[in-house]
Order: sequence, then C-alpha cells, then structure tokens
Amino acid sequence: MTDKNDHPNQTDSPDEFELIETLAKPFLRYEKRQLLVPNGDDAAVYLPAAGLGQVVCVDTLVEDIHFKRVTMEPQHIGIKSLAVNLSDMAAMGATPLSFLVSVAIPPQWSQKELEHIYGGMKTLADQYELDLLGGDTVSSPKHLMLSVTLLGEVDSRVKLLRSNAKPGDIVFVTGKVGDSAGGLHLLLRSPAYKSDLRFTELIDAHQQPKPHITQGNILAQLGKHHRIALNDISDGLVSEAIEIAQSSGVNIILEREKLPISLALRRYAQLVQQDFLHWAMYGGEDFVLIGTATPDAYQEIEHRFQVEKRELYPIGVVMAGKGEVYLKHDETCTRLQKKGYNHFRSFG
Ligand code: ADP
Ligand code: MG
Repeated sequence: MTDKNDHPNQTDSPDEFELIETLAKPFLRYEKRQLLVPNGDDAAVYLPAAGLGQVVCVDTLVEDIHFKRVTMEPQHIGIKSLAVNLSDMAAMGATPLSFLVSVAIPPQWSQKELEHIYGGMKTLADQYELDLLGGDTVSSPKHLMLSVTLLGEVDSRVKLLRSNAKPGDIVFVTGKVGDSAGGLHLLLRSPAYKSDLRFTELIDAHQQPKPHITQGNILAQLGKHHRIALNDISDGLVSEAIEIAQSSGVNIILEREKLPISLALRRYAQLVQQDFLHWAMYGGEDFVLIGTATPDAYQEIEHRFQVEKRELYPIGVVMAGKGEVYLKHDETCTRLQKKGYNHFRSFG
C-alpha cells in the first residue's frame, strides 16, 4: 500500500524503498518451504508441503498499549512482536516457517531504532529459521504500530483445541507464571533494581519472552493419539483457563500451592510488598502453555518433557461444570473472574 499522508516520514518518498531494503536485507533465507517468489514483488509465493495443515496467525503491537518505550528497547519490541505469534503457533502444536511484517511509523522513531526492532525479529527468525516473506510500511501520526503475520504448518491429525478439555483431565502449564508481570512492575515502579542480578529473569521474561515452540511440538506428537486442550498464556493464567473451561463446557480447579512461581518473583514481591499470586494469575504475557490431558496422556507428556529437559507442572483438574474456574486453597474453593487487560472496556 502507498501512504498519501503529508508527513515528515512520508513513506511514499523514494526513501521508503531504501528503508524497506535496509530493514529486510539482513534476514537470511532458510526456505524450509520452497519460495517460488520471495520478498520484494507484489506478493510472495511459496510451495506448501503436501498433506500438512497450513497454520496462520497475526498479532499487533501498538505503542503505549502493548509496550512503552521506557520499558522496552527497540530490539525487545522486535523480539516481542514475533514471540507473541510464535506462542500462538506453539499453542496449536505447529512449526513456524515464515512471516510478514506491517509497520506504521510515527515521526519520532528513527531509522536506527527501526533497524534495532528488525534486529530483534532477526534473533528469533534465525533461531527458528523463519523466512521474511514480505510486509508493508506506512506512516503513523503518533504511535508505532507493528503487526506480524506468522505462517506455519502442522500435521493435519493434530488439533490441540481449547474445546478439548473433559472432566477428569489434569491441567498443566509448561513454565512459571507471573515473571513477566513482575518484570514490568520492576521496570515501571522500581527501576533501582534494574541491575540487581537476582531479578534479571523477571526483566528478561518481560522484554524477551521465549515462546514454547518445542513444548508445543512435543504436545503435537502426543496429540496425534490423545485428546489434549492447549492455549498459550498471553492474557493471564486465569483468563486462559476460563477460555478453555468455557469452550469445553467444563469447570477447572486450580490449586494454589501447585502454581509454579519463581524464587525471583517471590523475593521481588516481598521486597516491594506486592502479591506475587496476583501477578501469577492475572499478569499475563508469560507465553508458556496451559493445557489439559487425561491422566494417561499426562504421564506420557511428563515422560517426554523429562527426556527433553523441559519444565512441566500439574496445577489442577477438570471437573464437570459450565465454564467456571476456581482456586483451591486449604480445602476452600474461590471462583475466579477474568481480570486481564481488555482493550474495549471503555466502549462498553
Ligand atoms: P506494494 O505497493 O506492491 O504493496 P510495497 O512498497 O508496500 O509494495 O512493498 C514492496 C515490497 O517490500 C513487497 O514485496 C513487500 O512485501 C516488501 N515490504 C514492504 N514493507 C516491508 C516491511 N516492513 N518488511 C519487510 N518487507 C516489506
Ligand atoms: Mg505494500
């Protein structure tokens, strides 16, 4: 698309092409799927592998909604924009292959900063051998907007759906929860601790999330023969558990003592007198996976995760019900409500 706005960063000036060239050039070509037409023409063309389900997802980051300049370096914004999509891919058990980037650039963002954003994307693109297939570059009056579309594939027998949970299943997560929210709190409210090595993992969890692609692939393997429900935790543990419970028409009981919470988060919460449990349940952006499986399937999952040296925590059970989620503590069950960020609350 061409941008017609009269704007300091006018993207229909000849510079647009140089900018795109500079941003896209460092990306290596992996071609895990053959590219009949690579990035640079009106559209890219690739040859999908026969018999595999094609998976596609898109996620958009908007400055001051999804990230703030004070808490995220440009490189982190790039990492996050791809990581949030990789996490969705992981939750489908899919293998990511290629991506497209749409960016709306306001005047105050420099070309160097954009290069750093793309540098962040390149880190993950290289790690997962992703091809940059194309994108779009336009100007924005005020805020930076970055939208990434990710393409991947999955065995067509694998369906790790939110609606797959059934009473008697075990609920599990593939990593600790709350670190990202703790990291964000530290960056915004207690920057004095920024260089405190005890809390580096909290800051990293917020700035450089690690999508659980390997974990998703293991679950996909087992998902060929077992019924597994899966979701990634972007909006918070409780919110994602409610999504599974509602889609599946069941209740989920989470056990407070079993929620995996890092020592760093406990320490930091104590220091700043905050409730780590609140971050763990409602903080979000952990990008670990939450799922359910039958006890038999869970045993196999546990075994495979042990072999691959990946974290796995059983945190609760599925019961008959109508889509509610409860927290069990000392034999008392408390109903939990969604409390994550809602973009459209003000329109209600
Ligand atoms: P068109 O007018 O045909 O959409 P563009 O000028 O938008 O052409 O884009 C030219 C080429 O550069 C296309 O192949 C497009 O996919 C690619 N491209 C544009 N913006 C980006 C970007 N931000 N990152 C990567 N590739 C991009
Ligand atoms: Mg275009």
